[in-house]
Amino acid sequence: MARTILPEIHQSRDETRTQPTPFPNTCPACGALAHRIVNDVDVLEWNRRADYACGADYTFKSQIQNRIEKWWGVCQEGAD
Ligand SMILES: [Zn+2]
Repeated sequence: MARTILPEIHQSRDETRTQPTPFPNTCPACGALAHRIVNDVDVLEWNRRADYACGADYTFKSQIQNRIEKWWGVCQEGAD
């Protein structure tokens, strides 16, 4: 079973105040469509996420001493 770390999504803390988080519409590893993307400006950054039909998701990666917010995820293509 393939297991692929997705490229991290980075967004400055200032940008999170004014812009949605730029989650891709398809899984970067396998191309599966997103079935839920939560990235609105009025959603706190740690609640922003993307879920894909393959089971991959992007979730918030805590950054205490950094002004760059990060989201990370793993695709396990073929899992169901
Ligand atoms: Zn995938």
